[in-house]
Amino acid sequence: MANKTKFQAIKGTRDLLPPETELWNRVEQTAREVFGTFGFGEIRLPIFEPTELFARAVGGETDIVSKEMYSFEDRQRQFPDLDDLGKLEEFLLAVEDAYKTGEIPQTPWNKGMIERVRLAFNSFRDTRDELNAMSEPSMEKFQEYAHYSFSASHWAHLTKLGDEISLRPEATASVCRAYIEHGMHALAQPVKLYYVGPMFRRERPQKGRYRQFYQIGAEVLEAITPNTDATKSLGKDAAVDAEVIEMVMVYFARLGLEGVVLDINSIGHSAPECRRGYVEKLKAALEKVKDKLGEDSKRRIETNPLRVLDSKLESEQAIIEKLPRIGDHLCADCAKHYAELKRQLELRGVAYRENWRLVRGLDYYMRTTFEITARGLGSQNAVCGGGRYDGLVELLGGAPTKGIGFAIGEDRVILSLQEAKKAVASGDPDQVGAGRRVASGKSGCDVYVAWMGKTAEATAIRAARDLRQAGFRVELPPVEQKFGKALGQADKLGARYALILGEDEVASGEWTLKTLADGTQGKVRGAELVAYLRGKK
Ligand code: AMP
Repeated sequence: MANKTKFQAIKGTRDLLPPETELWNRVEQTAREVFGTFGFGEIRLPIFEPTELFARAVGGETDIVSKEMYSFEDRQRQFPDLDDLGKLEEFLLAVEDAYKTGEIPQTPWNKGMIERVRLAFNSFRDTRDELNAMSEPSMEKFQEYAHYSFSASHWAHLTKLGDEISLRPEATASVCRAYIEHGMHALAQPVKLYYVGPMFRRERPQKGRYRQFYQIGAEVLEAITPNTDATKSLGKDAAVDAEVIEMVMVYFARLGLEGVVLDINSIGHSAPECRRGYVEKLKAALEKVKDKLGEDSKRRIETNPLRVLDSKLESEQAIIEKLPRIGDHLCADCAKHYAELKRQLELRGVAYRENWRLVRGLDYYMRTTFEITARGLGSQNAVCGGGRYDGLVELLGGAPTKGIGFAIGEDRVILSLQEAKKAVASGDPDQVGAGRRVASGKSGCDVYVAWMGKTAEATAIRAARDLRQAGFRVELPPVEQKFGKALGQADKLGARYALILGEDEVASGEWTLKTLADGTQGKVRGAELVAYLRGKK
């Protein structure tokens, strides 16, 4: 009997189907157009990278890296099963060989592990031989034997038999890796790149939150030339930040996204006279109110006090409002940069809201942080997050480089556009003007070619080819159909016209064209059909 298992998309992943995919394409195409006008070029990146890249760039302590990454060992060859003690020697020989040839990672870790397996295995073999030679095996020998077999297989299990790789949870790390790998510091600076594609995080799925989701992001990277006066370049950095933010806002406006609100903040830089000093003060203040905080926040006082400010817990809001604010503790340079950022945004007519609680937990983030929210998304209403990260390229092994970028949650942008369109359809007065620019959402069909008879078949195929070449969307049934059935099908597909080709039409060269909206029909000469329809477009 056939296996009746029904396969379903894995939790947190989904299929995007037509006609919705038209909207996805439009959202992506608009990004390409708008970002292009700001001088950005597209970068296409691998979907997986070494786990270590993300551990370093995103931070080993973050939820993303510690809990949410899809990581696995990428083995190049099979090794004997370690559950079978009898295969330990075979395993050891195979691993020693694979280490030499580079088929398993040639890391200090693996070198150490393989040496330990070898030592433990030799002792294991010796005790086994001794045991076999004893007429009456002693308990001590048995214990020794058990000990060595345990250690050998323990170290063997810890040997990394393939590269540790992860599906990318975000793309900034990859862009920086690529910038270093391709020596992009030697190109005209800054280098402006954008990307579009899926990201993967094992989060709890809900509306607007998926395990495979899509981001549209951009980064501006600029090698720091020696002897530049850091204080002097503050104004330039702020202008770059403002232009990046302006670009996202122009993009969202072009899409017709509704209820867009931009929050900005400066988180200073990691020096003691700036953010580090502030974090100490924050910690001290948090210690004083510790008893009133929830478990998560209590823990974060030690692990990452800035993240307490992210808390959405109702009972903590009044307490957080009274905590020291980073804006009052910025060093002179960071304060100057922030003032200039705001002036630059105003020059560009970009409306913003200052939000002192907008923070990022990682050391290399500095100065500008921003977040954009949109309407119609419930609790997951952030559609874009971004910030400056001048230390990141260096952290990944490159030369000192400035960086600023953002990532837009494409799934949420789409949801928001769809919600706005629904609201317009239902006449919600808050939504006047909303969603009008949203794609019609119909993949549609311009011309349905209804044909009957052998001679009509060849004409139909040619007509479909010519119409498609001219850019019309054409449905050509693979077998002839009675005209009644064909017209019903054309209707179902929402076709604008049905082209009717029977023996008479082919013989006379006068084709029948039916306009489905009003049911009228007339004759058009075959050779003139494309021109005729173009005139109607
Ligand atoms: P992040 O990379 O965490 O700064 O996120 C940037 C943006 O990506 C967010 O503002 C969201 O719009 C979107 N995003 C992040 N995680 C998810 C997810 N699991 N599902 C859908 N969108 C997400």
